[in-house]
Amino acid sequence: MANLGIPQNTIEILQKYKFNFQKKFGQNFLIDTSVLERIVAAAQITKDDFVLEIGPGIGTMTQYLAEAAGQVVAVEIDKALIPILEETLAEYTNVTVINADVLKLDLKQLADERNGGKPIKVVANLPYYITTPIIMSLFESGTPLESITIMVQKEVAERMQVGPGTKDYGALSLAVQYYAKPEIVANVPPNCFIPRPTVGSAVIRLTRHQEPPVDVMDDHHMFALIRASFNQRRKTLANGLSNAPELHLTRDQVTQAVEKMGLSATVRGETLTLAQFAELSNLLKNA
Ligand code: SAM
Repeated sequence: MANLGIPQNTIEILQKYKFNFQKKFGQNFLIDTSVLERIVAAAQITKDDFVLEIGPGIGTMTQYLAEAAGQVVAVEIDKALIPILEETLAEYTNVTVINADVLKLDLKQLADERNGGKPIKVVANLPYYITTPIIMSLFESGTPLESITIMVQKEVAERMQVGPGTKDYGALSLAVQYYAKPEIVANVPPNCFIPRPTVGSAVIRLTRHQEPPVDVMDDHHMFALIRASFNQRRKTLANGLSNAPELHLTRDQVTQAVEKMGLSATVRGETLTLAQFAELSNLLKNA
């Protein structure tokens, strides 16, 4: 099968099947061989690897992944793409396409059944409308993971990487950094896709931590604190957390914990590091 990274080949297959792009599925297909090579190189795929691809589209990146990996499972929601994938991936015996909504699949079970519970690599040019839910469900479902190498909106990639003191710092930064080490590996302009997205894109690799980088007694509790802090970003922690009904905390409890940590009683959540959120969560659990 012709390399779909070459724009003319993609156009031919789209015309052959009279394919209509579905905006609601975030369909922007890659048409740049050097970007495709960079993604696969960044994911460090070898023949020992089991790769989950989310949203193969017409199979452009899938072809590259099939060449490099041992096994590839590609999950595509759009039924109209399935016959196209049958043609574009026909020569690969190591690719399985599943027609499903990735958010409704049990990915832990998939990794357990198809890769004997060993860590998998996720590689995807993600549909941008569900970037955060996909990443969070990969981490929170307990799916055994080695790394996630994904194309996302440029601003979202930056949000995953930053620390306190920047306006982009938030719950997503902390969640990603709790589970993984984020590294932006490429910036990708709109003209590398058909149709062109209205935003810039970036490829980011999230390498799963073997051990969490902080000691926290109850990570659900820590993430509840984090969410409440950034929901009320402009409030002090004492006000923000005591206002959040799900936490059942008083202003005094929060102030005491914050002061115990050597911080000012008027500190805001957006200035805390992951280690400080972990410490605060442990103090409040013990209180
Ligand atoms: N991988 C292809 C490429 O790079 O050219 C296509 C990438 S396109 C940005 C995103 C793909 O994800 C589309 O094929 C879209 O139909 C698919 N998709 C969107 N939502 C999905 C979902 N919930 N589950 C699985 N696939 C989804």
